[in-house]
Formats: sequence, structure tokens, C-alpha cells
Amino acid sequence: MNRNVTIVMYHYVRDLQRSRFPAIKGLSMERFRRQLDHIQSSYTSITVNDILLALSSPEVPLPPNSILLTFDDGYSDHFTNVFPLLDSCGIQGCFFPSAQAVLEHRVLDANKIQFVLAAIPDVAKLLEEVFAWLPEYRTKHALETREVYLNSFIEKHRYDPPAVILLKRLLQRELPEPVRKEIVRRLFAKYITADEAAFACELYMSVDQIDCMRRHGMHIGSHGYSHVWLNHVPAATQAIEVDRSLEFLSAFGIQKNDWTMCYPYGGFDSSLLHLLEDRKCRVGFTVEARIANLDKDSRLTLPRLDTNDLPS
Ligand SMILES: [Zn+2]
Repeated sequence: MNRNVTIVMYHYVRDLQRSRFPAIKGLSMERFRRQLDHIQSSYTSITVNDILLALSSPEVPLPPNSILLTFDDGYSDHFTNVFPLLDSCGIQGCFFPSAQAVLEHRVLDANKIQFVLAAIPDVAKLLEEVFAWLPEYRTKHALETREVYLNSFIEKHRYDPPAVILLKRLLQRELPEPVRKEIVRRLFAKYITADEAAFACELYMSVDQIDCMRRHGMHIGSHGYSHVWLNHVPAATQAIEVDRSLEFLSAFGIQKNDWTMCYPYGGFDSSLLHLLEDRKCRVGFTVEARIANLDKDSRLTLPRLDTNDLPS
């Protein structure tokens, strides 16, 4: 009896070559179409409901070669490029927008960093610029020395080179929050645009677009409110992030006792898992790259493959 499901994670899916930021890390339309062909010939696509049904009893099998497609961050790519293709193939996609990006027309810091990196390939120059700005903040905030930052989080990553990881970690979580937000804002304004709201409207889906996908059978779940590392914030912040995202989902008729979670950056800890139990979250998706098994994996921490792990 099959209890395995291949859950695949996507971010940008766009005509990269003809976009304003061809260097942004994403999947081209051509590769996405080829991947969909491969999925249709080699897998059976299932829905979140199929997973919930199988989780309700160990006797309920999944179809052989089950696959579930998930799309993070709520990009307008998903409405414009992905949704029509999935709908025409009869495949349910699972979409996880960050509420703040959609509601407040703010560009998530994670995305600002990506676009700056796509526009300025010289990462060493960007790092120098960031380190040159740090003294301005040193008196007000307890900042480490440059050497401490350089040596403290050497971390292997599947796709990114070390300098990119260093810059991302500094600006995503290592510097004190007000400092990193301000530095990311400065970089984005300098290298990308001063009109953040216009950029956000271009980058993310609107409420109406998300609602349209939901009415066509697509699944919409939580990706937190402001896309923070939920395992690097206090429990009270975890609760605010989750509850505000549930408020956002309720606009689409999603019940507060029947919802799914996709952890921003894959970050979770035991305190967050307790909170999700309490808030009646049904399924959680991580970024641990392997095939999920509904008997062995906890339903709140199901692993997902990256789109790059599948042939295309
Ligand atoms: Zn995300």
C-alpha cells in the first residue's frame, strides 16, 4: 500500500529571459511546461484533501507515484503563468502567499535581497557596502565586529555560494532587526526602485486573484504574515504571525480549524508546532528535501523536494 507522496516546491515561474531580472533564481516557463509533461506521464497528482483523508487512517492508501505541487510566496507568476496550466491539466496547486506582501503592498525583505542580488552580481561589492554602513548603526545597536560576522555562520547550502549565504543570513536574521530592515531598504531603493508599492503590485498576487484560484479548486494556505524565520522569533511573535495570517486566509473562506502551513525558509521549532496544534493546523510543509511518507513523517513537518530535484 502506497503512503508516499512527492511534494514539490516552486517559487518564481516566469519567462526569465524576457523579464526585467533575468538573473533572478527561478524556473523558466519552458522548463515548467516540460516538468508538467513529465509529472503527467510519471505521477498521479493528488490534492491536499487526499492527504488529509490518508492521514485520517493508516488504512487509506495514496495512488502510486503521488505528487503534490506547492508554490511559495504568492507571486503574480503563480496566477498568470502557473494557474492556467494547472487548471487545464486538472492539477491542484497549493499556494502559500505571505499576507503582508498582498495586503500592504510591501516587498518582503527576502525578495528585496533576491532582486538586489539579481541586479548586482558582484556579491563581494554588496558585502563591502553593507559592512561600510554598519558603523552608522553601531552606537545605537549592539553590533558584532565584521570578523565575527564573517566567521560566525559558515553554512553549507544546496544552491548558493558562501558569499551569497553570508549576505542573505546577515540581512535575513543575524543583524538586529531594525538595522537589517534599514539596510535592505537602502539597497533596494538604490539598486531596484524607490517605488516599493508599485513593485509589490507587480510582484505579488492580489486578493482577487488568490480568490479566483481558490474558486477554481486551487488550495490556499498560510506562509505567515511577514515572512520571518519563525524559529528565530519569540513565541509571542510566532502567535502574532500565525494569527494574522489566519485572519488573511479567512477572507477566502478558509476556516480557522482547517488550514495548512508552509514555513517561511522552512523554519519551525517545537514552540511553533505546539501553537499550530493549538490552532488546528492540519498539515505543515518544510524544505527538507525528500519524499514524504505519511506513516513515518509527522503531518506538521512534511518534507518537500525542490523543483530542481525533478527532471525538466
Ligand atoms: Zn517563502
